[in-house]
Amino acid sequence: RGKREGRGTFRFFEQKMDEELKERVTLEIALRHAIQSGEIRPHYQPLVALPSHKLLGFEVLARWYHPQRGIISPDIFIPLAEDSGMITELCYGLLRQACADARSWPGDLGLSINISPYQFKDRLLAARILSILRETGFDARRLEIEITESALTNDIEVARATLGVLQSAGVSIALDDFGTGYSSLYHLRELKFDKIKIDRSFVQSLENQESAKIISAIIGLGQSLGILTTAEGIESTTNSEWLAARGCTYGQGFLFGPPVPASGAAKLIENTAPTKQPSRRAAA
Ligand code: C2E
Ligand code: MG
Ligand code: MG
Ligand code: MG
Repeated sequence: RGKREGRGTFRFFEQKMDEELKERVTLEIALRHAIQSGEIRPHYQPLVALPSHKLLGFEVLARWYHPQRGIISPDIFIPLAEDSGMITELCYGLLRQACADARSWPGDLGLSINISPYQFKDRLLAARILSILRETGFDARRLEIEITESALTNDIEVARATLGVLQSAGVSIALDDFGTGYSSLYHLRELKFDKIKIDRSFVQSLENQESAKIISAIIGLGQSLGILTTAEGIESTTNSEWLAARGCTYGQGFLFGPPVPASGAAKLIENTAPTKQPSRRAAA
């Protein structure tokens, strides 16, 4: 009896894997098409100063506008793009589009873009990013790249060289999702980061004593190393005030705004501008 059940279970899994594989292949083909036809577009989430809430720039977050399925989350298609080797093309397309969108923003607003660990295998990563900046005329000092620690586990020397080239061109480097990796302190010693982004899982469990202490410690660590800190996932003024009081310099989260398309970012900029920017013609 057990045997028969076992076989049935096996057949069930076999069938399920088959379906999963089909779904994956279908999605992979659709993704290839999506990247080429521009269905994947940058959304922009505000990055603000604490405690002023002044708008400093935006993080670029990819969204797939699938014609039948609607908007697909990056948690689904980024891993797929990584596994199938399409992440590089996807990233450069987004960066190009973001630099173009940002051209109409005030010149002091920055862009922050996520770079996948897979892209660090490419020794020309830094050169390619800088070449897109030249091509689009976007000032390197306005760009920040966000990397997670998994980008650094393969070859720290290659990572050091890549980050070095970008930083000497004026690009800032942020260590994303800080606290979720497992060798954080090693990387802080070995590489020079401009910013640490405290993972939103800590911020969103701030009522937990341990989370609160860990956040305070990360901010303190940043202060003693001369690295600025951003808290991700801020959804309430209580959290934002708590973080600011502990010296956290930047904030990001639904409290300041969710990721929105370029048109939404433009509106937000317009609404937060303290005074109307004098137009070029008026200034000339
Ligand atoms: P991430 O880089 O840590 O981005 C922050 C994520 O937190 C975003 O999810 C954002 O929508 C979400 N978030 C921001 N504020 C809040 C908040 O107050 N509450 C909650 N619950 N969530 C908040 P999203 O856009 O779904 O992106 C998920 C992840 O996918 C990103 O995490 C990043 O690792 C990856 N990703 C997104 N776009 C790209 C891309 O263009 N390239 C690469 N390599 N990865 C990307
Ligand atoms: Mg990020
Ligand atoms: Mg993050
Ligand atoms: Mg994250």
